Amino acid sequence: MNKSDSLDIALALEEQGYVRAGAGSEADIVVINTCSVRKHAEQRVFGRLGYYRSLKNRVNGSPVIVFTGCMAQLFGEDVKKRFPEIDIIAGTSHGLHIPHYLSEYDKNQKPMVCTDQEGYGFSSYGGRRALSHHAWVTIIKGCSNFCSYCIVPYVRGPELSKRSEDVVREVCELVDHGVTEITLLGQNVNAYGKDSGDISFAGLLERLDRIEGLRWTRFLTSHPKDFDEAAIKRIAGYPKVCRHFHLPLQSGSDRMLDVMNRGYTVRHYMGIVEALYRYLSDFSLTTDIIVGFPSETEEDFQKTLQVYAEVEFDDAFTYRYSARPYIKAERLSGRVDDRTAQTRLERLISLVKRISLERNRREVGREVEVLIEKKSRKNPNEYLAKTEQGKMVVVRTEEKPGSFVRVRIEGLSGGTLRGEEIPRRCSVHG
Ligand code: SAH
Ligand code: SF4
Repeated sequence: MNKSDSLDIALALEEQGYVRAGAGSEADIVVINTCSVRKHAEQRVFGRLGYYRSLKNRVNGSPVIVFTGCMAQLFGEDVKKRFPEIDIIAGTSHGLHIPHYLSEYDKNQKPMVCTDQEGYGFSSYGGRRALSHHAWVTIIKGCSNFCSYCIVPYVRGPELSKRSEDVVREVCELVDHGVTEITLLGQNVNAYGKDSGDISFAGLLERLDRIEGLRWTRFLTSHPKDFDEAAIKRIAGYPKVCRHFHLPLQSGSDRMLDVMNRGYTVRHYMGIVEALYRYLSDFSLTTDIIVGFPSETEEDFQKTLQVYAEVEFDDAFTYRYSARPYIKAERLSGRVDDRTAQTRLERLISLVKRISLERNRREVGREVEVLIEKKSRKNPNEYLAKTEQGKMVVVRTEEKPGSFVRVRIEGLSGGTLRGEEIPRRCSVHG
């Protein structure tokens, strides 16, 4: 979402005649689009700000520093106490207005802070968002769920769905610009349309499935509380929807899910997994897990390990609970000490790695279609490609990024799949 928002900001600036600087050090204006979901993300931003502080020329004030995104929304003016070099603070509803703030700043050289909700909406760049064969398409902004560990609803505002006709138009324009694969974005894509009374998420997928020229549709992120058998049954009928589901579990303990305010039980989650097996023969499933959430016991953590092993997830993003402002979890008792949380994280990661490897081994010998993404950094004769299930495959090919090729999975190197291109067969008749 952050990357996608950055693209909109870049397009808004280009629309007003700004050109891209090769590197931050060459820029007259630097826009830092921030994330505050975990403390670690914030620390990286502060490190980056230190770098721009060192570039700032005190005489001519260049580069102008614009601080935007979730941290701008969260800290507002306070961030200037630590970094007075910041010239413009633009909260999460203000990214698209940055060119306007820059021209105001040019006129009067006065620092600006804009963190209200005015301008909460979507960009209208449509097809101009096509940079390669792949494009992000935001379908729902914000979040109204208030999971007790999460800062997102406080900094990104409530759920707001883009009109379905606008989504369809945007995707058609992207396809006209050469896009073959899209990823629909939202904090909870399954809530699509509920705030506005528009068609449902499955209904939207159905419409997108009819767009000629579009090959693959992905989406991020699904929320288990709003994902069910009926949706899966419908999705099974849409061939363009990639058979890869990212469905954050967060914990395998019902007690933890309850205090996390996730709105589902392990049983409900397992019901979704069963439905995926029932309706889709070949799919991958990835997840997010938090360890060390306040009051998590060894027994709760064991349940997470058990559920993880039972589901046999293809992969997972694993996090140690991170204290954040506003969130309810900070008012809970039973803080898990750092060492225990770190040990649990390491135990979980080793399980994740073992199961990912086992699952990848099962791919060896299969023939699959992959989408070529980019040149491998390690070997310029090889490309990184992705299967419909979202698995990375290293392949030697003459084809260029954006092409679909068939490969046979020959083996693994360091856990990553290696594929051999299958030449296209033809017969010539005289
Ligand atoms: N909207 C998505 C995820 C948004 S944040 C969803 O609901 O699934 C991405 C992930 O960051 C979350 O799934 C969660 O696992 C993790 N996360 C969010 N807040 C966190 C916190 N305070 N500490 C640790 N991990 C957190
Ligand atoms: Fe955060 Fe929960 Fe919303 Fe995801 S659904 S963004 S985890 S509050």
